[in-house]
This record gives sequence, structure tokens and C-alpha cells, in this order.
Amino acid sequence: MAVDSILSSPLGPPACEKDAKALQFIEEMTRNADSVQENVLAQILARNAQTEYLKSFNLDGATDRHTFKSKIPMVTYEDLQPLIQRIANGDRSPILSSHPVSEFLTSSGTSAGERKLMPTIKEELDRRQLLYSLLMPVMNLYVNGLDKGKGLYFLFIKSETKTPGGLLARPVLTSYYKSDHFKTRPHDPYNIYTSPNEAILCPDSFQSMYTQMLCGLYDRHQVLRVGAVFASGLLRAIRFLQLNWQQLADDIRAGSLNPKVTDPAIRECMTRILRPDPELADFIVTECSKDNWERIITRIWPNTKYLDVIVTGAMAQYIPTLDFYSGGLPKACTMYASSECYFGLNLNPMCKPSEVSYTIMPNMAYFEFLPHEPSSNSVEQARLVDLAEVEVGKEYELVITTYAGLYRYHVGDILRVTGYHNAAPQFQFVRRKNVLLSIDSDKTDEAELQSAVDSASEVLREYNTSVVEYTSYADTATIPGHYVVYWELLGSEAPGDGVVERCCLAMEEALNSVYRQCRVADGSIGALEIRVVRNGTFEELMDYAISRGASINQYKVPRCVSFTPIMELLDSRVVSAHFSPSLPHWGPQRRR
Ligand code: AMP
Repeated sequence: MAVDSILSSPLGPPACEKDAKALQFIEEMTRNADSVQENVLAQILARNAQTEYLKSFNLDGATDRHTFKSKIPMVTYEDLQPLIQRIANGDRSPILSSHPVSEFLTSSGTSAGERKLMPTIKEELDRRQLLYSLLMPVMNLYVNGLDKGKGLYFLFIKSETKTPGGLLARPVLTSYYKSDHFKTRPHDPYNIYTSPNEAILCPDSFQSMYTQMLCGLYDRHQVLRVGAVFASGLLRAIRFLQLNWQQLADDIRAGSLNPKVTDPAIRECMTRILRPDPELADFIVTECSKDNWERIITRIWPNTKYLDVIVTGAMAQYIPTLDFYSGGLPKACTMYASSECYFGLNLNPMCKPSEVSYTIMPNMAYFEFLPHEPSSNSVEQARLVDLAEVEVGKEYELVITTYAGLYRYHVGDILRVTGYHNAAPQFQFVRRKNVLLSIDSDKTDEAELQSAVDSASEVLREYNTSVVEYTSYADTATIPGHYVVYWELLGSEAPGDGVVERCCLAMEEALNSVYRQCRVADGSIGALEIRVVRNGTFEELMDYAISRGASINQYKVPRCVSFTPIMELLDSRVVSAHFSPSLPHWGPQRRR
């Protein structure tokens, strides 16, 4: 494509030569979405033709869509679990992919309470890198001068384990930050971070956060954008500042480093950054000791042009708090991705959160869409449609076929088509299927909440009471947020002596490993709270729903609530509130 056509394209003009190439790539992919998809499928099927999985469906070397769709079934993680377990146990034969599985990516989605293990292959890193490389060229179309400063991004690695067969199992971002793609990335004036790699790569979350915050404070005038992956992560950084500003100011005043930061690589690299700066220390003390933290982000980092955080999906609950701390700075949601596959990017990243649409990049995988009709039970019969066939205004469940060996795999996300960029559809993230509660990367579904309530009810047994009804709510008014569960108990009084507190802990112990990791290792979820409500409250809740038009025959107690009048009703009936007295158990997963 000639440079003129990029300039005249909806995406022009690029900020530099490198951006021009990236934008040109986006144009090519989106103009030819359907043929790119056809080729991607043919490539995936051709290279994996000899895998045990594809051979079992007698594709006989066919690589066309029609044969693929008629012979390969749609699957969920649970269908693949036995095969994935064999790979984890060390079977190196080509089971799902002809390319060797390089590691497992641990999804925040869980199966039987444990993180799902997504097999991946080495070249997927290149594909992820390619998507990352498109983000700044798009952002540069909307925000000028990002090469004149730095980004303050709070980025973290998490713990990793090994499967019995010796493969690493870790989150996708940990894998990316530890890769050479990230560690030895070439200098790019549009993408300079205040955080040194040593801080990002430190496995201790306190030391990592402390150092990243310290560097961000030193560079406060250079910071042009502030971000984290998800909104919850950025708010956790603000909370960290609230708790640690005095020590940070002391370090800045003296040019020293908090002795709690013991990581040798950090200490070594910080010798090049630390310097006594009493003026900056005074400024931090003045700002942070004020009672009102409104606009703290723009007060400390006055040149911030936008926040770079995902606030779509479950993260939308944090928008008001982010607005409070940033004075309503634009919130850029730049990409849509998962452990299974990186999907696409937002071509209009400075738009309002409610208008965010992601353009799925057709080169990343083969994408199919299951029409989502909430009232219909005929999912099995529904026809999967291709990327180029989706209709504006309709909702679909995303189904993917990846180079790493997932074929017609249900991701669990529901998307709505909002429009097109060239021939590529754009999607609003509607929600993840079956998620009731989420504070950070945790996802708790109705069955998990039910079984947690069941476990806690065991504790109540010897006190001659039980849970008559319950509902729940993700309380994000304080940082970190926490789960609140409203209980109506049999009998008029809740047992004393810390019994309900023990119930809180029993619930936490029963929740999935991602919840417990957030709670224990990351501190990103606060203690679970049970609010005991007085007898008859849930009947009042039903009366309220019926007064608003619910059918009395079909009424079911909502297991999660967020509608303000309902919350007000529940809160006005609370007789006692109880918190989990300690942390649940969590340790890096043991892999059978
Ligand atoms: P994980 O497998 O743990 O990486 O989680 C991936 C999931 O996070 C996706 O399937 C989505 O449900 C959610 N997610 C990722 N990116 C976004 C986004 N930009 N907006 C909303 N939800 C997202």
C-alpha cells in the first residue's frame, strides 16, 4: 500500500515511519479480514494435520472451512482437560499442536477451582508482540508528543510452577515480561517506562511496587501516561501510595532505598536512579498528607494525558474511583486479550469507556462466533458464523482456533458487534459468561458461590441455625475491594463468639485458587464480609422485585446484586457485619 493511502485512511497520519508500517499492517489485515481468516485456518490445519487431535476427526488433510466446520466439534476446557493433563505430565507427542508446547499459560478462568492451563508454543510470543507493537502507533494518532516523556506503568510478574512433565506454568503476562521480547526491547522514544525491568521482574510484590512507585515519583514531571493492565491494579498502586508515602518521601529526601527492598538486582539498578531531592520529598509530604486525595494522580503527575487501563467488562465498576483520583482523565482501553490468544485492539482508544470497541485482528487466530440468544436453549444447533459474517447489533460468544492447538474452543466471552473498520467487525465486550463476582482477576460463578456458602453452612450446623437465603455484592468502595455476602439466618439471632467470622473464612477457603491468590499473594482482594440481615429481608426483596414487574411464579433470588435501591434495602436491614479473621490458604498450585 502506498503511504498516501495510509494518510488518507481513517487511521492516518502516522507519527513516524515505524508507525506508518504498523498502521499499514492494520489496514491490510482489516481490509482483507475474510481472506486472512481463511489463510489462518488453512495454515493451522495444515501444520497440525498430523496431531492426534485432528487425526481423530478424520480431516484427511483438508484445510478448508467447510470440512473443518462439519468435522470438528466445539469444545470447552473440560473437554480438552485429559489431553492437556497428558501434555502437563510430559507426553511430548504431537497431541494438539505439531509445534512443541513451550509452556502453559495459567488463565484466571478456573476449572474445578484451579486455574486453567493453556498450552502455548514459542511463536505465539511473536504474535503477541506483534499486537503490542500496534498499540502505540494507534495511540499516537490521538495524542501528540508521547515521545517527549515516559509512561508510569505498574507491571508485575506472578509466581510460576512446573508441571510434572517439567513445563513452566505461569500467567501470560509473566511469560511476556520475562521474555527477551520485553526485557531486551529496542529503545523506542514513544514507549519509555519509568519502571526499570529489575523492578517489574521482582517476584516480591511489595518490593516491586515500592520501586516502581519510587521511580514514578522521581520522574513525576516526565510522566505523560499512567497505567496498569486492569483498573484494579492502578487503584492498588494508589492505595499503596496512601500507605507508604512517608517512607517513599524519606527515601527521596535522603537518596536512599527502603531496607525492606532487598532484591539485589533492584538495589543495584536503583543506585543509578536514587538521588537526594528534598524539594520533591517536601512536595510529596504536602500532597499526600492532605485528607482529600481527589485528583491525586494529576497533582503528583501533572503532565498525565490519559490513564492506560482496561475499564471494560468487570473493570467498569472502578470508573468512578479512577475519575475521582484522576479528575476524570481519559481512560484508554487499548487491547482485548486472553491466555488462550490475544484478540485485538481498540482503534479509537481515547473514546469513552462505554463506547470502547475492539477490532479483532484476523491474523491472530481463526475466530468464529456463536449467536448468543439468552432466551434460547438451542445452543447446540446454533450455527457458528465467521468473523466477516457477524451482524451489527447482535451478540455472540467467541470461539477460537489457535496456532497453539485449540480448535473451536469456547473462550466464555460475550461480545456485541458495534460496527466495522474496513471489513473487520468491531466488538464491545459485553461480559464474561457465568461470572457473578469479580474484584481483580478473580472470577467467581454462581456454582462456586453456592458451594462456598455450603461450606460455611457446615460451620453453622452445631449452632442450630442455617442460611435461609443469601445474595452477594462486589464492594469496591474501598481499596482493595471485597466480597460481601448477605445472609438471612434461621432464627432471629446470629451465633456469637466469632462463629460468623469463621464462616467468612470457610467461604474464602472454598473459593477458587485465583480468588485465594489475589487475597493472599497479591493483596488485591480484602477480607470477605458476611452481613447478617434480619428475618424477612429476602421476602421484602421479592416484594420489591414483584412491585417492579417480576413474575411471582418465576422469581428467583438474585445471587448477586448491584442495583442501588436493592443495596439500600439490604443494608438497611443489616443486624451485624462480620469479616474473615485471617487469610485463606494459598500456595503455588501443585500439578498432579
Ligand atoms: P486470562 O485468560 O486470565 O488472561 O483472562 C482473559 C479474559 O479477561 C478474557 O477472556 C476476558 O474475559 C477478560 N478481558 C481481557 N481483556 C479485556 C478487555 N479489554 N475488556 C474486558 N475484559 C477483558
